[in-house]
Amino acid sequence: MHPPLVSEADFVKAQTVNAVPAPEDGQPRRYLLTGLVICRACGRRADAHWVHGRPGYRCRHGHTSASPPLSGRPKPLYLREDLLLAHIARQLDGRTTEARDDARATAAYLRANQVTVTCDADTITLGRQPSPARFPRQKQRPHPNRSET
Ligand SMILES: [Zn+2]
Repeated sequence: MHPPLVSEADFVKAQTVNAVPAPEDGQPRRYLLTGLVICRACGRRADAHWVHGRPGYRCRHGHTSASPPLSGRPKPLYLREDLLLAHIARQLDGRTTEARDDARATAAYLRANQVTVTCDADTITLGRQPSPARFPRQKQRPHPNRSET
């Protein structure tokens, strides 16, 4: 009779190690929503912020870590990109068909339509960016998919 090659304890240990997600070394950090995420509390654009191996967005409301903490200051906002995209896709559902499932398509849709994502910890609102300049006449149609009568 052969002794087991791997003891049960070692086997459990190996399983645990395998369950840990592989490090993202060598993989470029990619953010799909850079510049599109607006903090509701202060109106600033949230910074792209890599956290726990995932893309996310952060707003410290204009405060830097150098400034001393004050009571009553709003807490920094942290948002995970995958959760944002899931919310956005749900809100876009019905407006567009192709952006529903693919995160990259969702982000591309937002950029193409100049839709910003205004967030606080609980709510995500899609809205159009205010135009940087006013034109007397709009020649480009803002809604490319509006062909139905
Ligand atoms: Zn803010």
